[in-house]
Amino acid sequence: MVQEVYVVGHKNPDTDTVCSAIVFAYLWNKWRETGALSKIMKIEGNAIPAVQGELNAETKFVLEKFGIKAPLKLTDGSGKKIALVDHSERSQTVDNIDKAEIVAVVDHHKIGDITTPNPILFFNLPAGSTATVLKILFDKTGMIIPKELAGIMLASILSDTVIFKSATTTELDKKVAEELAKVVGIMDITKFGVEVKGRLSEVQGMSAKEIIMRDFKDFNMGGKKVGIGQIELLDLSLIVNRKEEIYKELSKKKAEGYHSVFLMLTDIMKEGTELLVITDDPKVVEKAFGKRLEGRSVWLDKVMSRKKQVVPPLEKAFS
Ligand code: MG
Ligand code: MG
Ligand code: MG
Repeated sequence: MVQEVYVVGHKNPDTDTVCSAIVFAYLWNKWRETGALSKIMKIEGNAIPAVQGELNAETKFVLEKFGIKAPLKLTDGSGKKIALVDHSERSQTVDNIDKAEIVAVVDHHKIGDITTPNPILFFNLPAGSTATVLKILFDKTGMIIPKELAGIMLASILSDTVIFKSATTTELDKKVAEELAKVVGIMDITKFGVEVKGRLSEVQGMSAKEIIMRDFKDFNMGGKKVGIGQIELLDLSLIVNRKEEIYKELSKKKAEGYHSVFLMLTDIMKEGTELLVITDDPKVVEKAFGKRLEGRSVWLDKVMSRKKQVVPPLEKAFS
């Protein structure tokens, strides 16, 4: 009996990570059935999509819209075959990754610190979403994308690129989105994007902790533990009266051994981010962004991407 392959994205799953796990599991199984990659490698084991945590409101909406069921939960990799999507950082992956066999990585981030003893399928492009990267893999291997998967891939691109407004957006993302929209039969891509992103703006029912943790990532910067969360809102006024509460909760998070915690309150329409900061060294903010903290936050115009506009300058400042 060949072992199954669990396809899993990063912790605190976002739409791109969840949908990419679903889509890559499908693609892997198609490769296995058709022998499409037989000239390069053996594709073995039935692929099963997995997630490491609760789905956010946006992702739930997207899966429901296209009639796709939520992946099973997997948080421990011990003894399992694993394919990673949308990350390659140890701090963001399943527990006991050292006791797992990693068989593939498909991503669009900087290369993380995961290593493998053998050569594997590793496909990474500096595109706006893993869904974009997956579309290229479908095309290059002659596989057809079913309509419902095209739908969740389009939603993933729009989610990760913040409807093409994020600095991570590439021409490829736009081209791929147009191709996928044709498959799904969506005429107005931006309108669909607002519908998707609008779901994440529904913060009324969320606790301050949920707001912070919904998209929170850990990093090691110059030996210091740094946490960066992000919430993207159609309008920042949606949470203006909850900042005190959020700040208190962020202090609790900081106390979990962090040197610094940051929360990006990103305003999709204004195209900028209010960065809430709690740090042992406020100078890193000025070093990284050339702006001083105004109280406990700083407004960063045109900054919408953690990956491209917040992590790199902070890493530099910490080094
Ligand atoms: Mg992601
Ligand atoms: Mg992504
Ligand atoms: Mg993201």
